[in-house]
Amino acid sequence: MIRFEQVGKVYADGTTAVDGLSFEVAEGELVTLVGPSGCGKTTTMMMVNRLIEPTSGRILVNGEDVSTVDPVRLRRSIGFVIQQGGLFPHRTVLENAATVPALLGWKRSRARARAAELLDLVGLDPGTYGGRYPAQLSGGQRQRVGVARALAADPPVLLMDEPFGAVDPVVRERLQNEFLNLQATVRKTVLLVTHDIEEAVRMGDRIAVYGQGRIEQFDTPGAVLGAPASPYVAEFVGTDRGLKRLSVTAIEPDDLDQPPVARLDEAASAAAARLRADGARWAVVLGKGGELHGWVAAEALALAGEEGTVGDLARRMEAWVPVGAPLKRAFGEMLQHDAGWVAVLDGPRFLGVLTPAGLHEALRRSVDADVRGVGRDEVEFDSIADA
Ligand code: ADP
Ligand code: MG
Repeated sequence: MIRFEQVGKVYADGTTAVDGLSFEVAEGELVTLVGPSGCGKTTTMMMVNRLIEPTSGRILVNGEDVSTVDPVRLRRSIGFVIQQGGLFPHRTVLENAATVPALLGWKRSRARARAAELLDLVGLDPGTYGGRYPAQLSGGQRQRVGVARALAADPPVLLMDEPFGAVDPVVRERLQNEFLNLQATVRKTVLLVTHDIEEAVRMGDRIAVYGQGRIEQFDTPGAVLGAPASPYVAEFVGTDRGLKRLSVTAIEPDDLDQPPVARLDEAASAAAARLRADGARWAVVLGKGGELHGWVAAEALALAGEEGTVGDLARRMEAWVPVGAPLKRAFGEMLQHDAGWVAVLDGPRFLGVLTPAGLHEALRRSVDADVRGVGRDEVEFDSIADA
């Protein structure tokens, strides 16, 4: 969808900002450009919508060489989000969000209706916020308006330059998650610039790690963290990359252990006998459809005698996560609840438990899966035990 072919930019004063850039962003993919300040990220991005013209090579958007497209038309067809939203201070939130549709000559009522729809989509009630001015919003709200404005004309491509850079870390994480949810629905082709490796890893389907004016590694977050292509990349992603991998590796059914199970309506005495025979100290309690009800201790069952069912003695399961969630979340649940394992659910249905050993295996699997063509012994692997 966006294709860079040997693109270079030398500014008038002789500064080489980027050199020999070749990479592609697939349709519906989110690629993050990450690197230290001054390495050429913004230059790269602004060449896509011709706010900056390359001095060598060419850029194709949807197969079309952008240098042959009228810059004004090009910019209206590409969403652009910058730090702090870049909003017009003297226009209301609704007018800001309606900017591009208005420029495209939509009827006023249609442009405003579309703007209201987008404000709603980014979590701002148009009735409450539509009439306000940017100065009357928080940083996070301004940023949301910036995203709404960029999406209003439904462009296939979105460029985002440090879009979450100006807000505090908590709001930042919330905006990142909101945007990921949004992206799961709208599936834009996105180029997102950041200097923050955490953000790059969290947001990107793939990441381009920039050195000075060139890409040092272009790969999935897992591969960049698991097998940095150079000492420079290894240093840039940090010594805690084993931990960072936890946030990009999803829990899969194969990672799970199957603990002893007791049925909700089973007699306590029968379950007690079974657990005793298996030498188990506890069991997961499931309903008829395999849904999780909690857990029960073998001791509690043994004390119940002939009376009652497992359901009477079941206790709430505090530590659980949905399948597909990142390992980091499972790890967080283990720590928060001081649990040796977490239950993993698919909707209400119990799939198994993730133990620390399973978590370690899952990390190892993700390194193996990501590192195509790299010898196993070249992979640097920080286990969570070392971290
Ligand atoms: P980043 O976004 O990664 O911080 P930039 O793309 O903004 O980097 O800048 C890359 C390099 O180009 C830097 O050395 C910067 O100083 C230089 N640069 C950016 N814009 C200009 C300009 N208009 N004229 C000269 N040099 C520039
Ligand atoms: Mg920049």
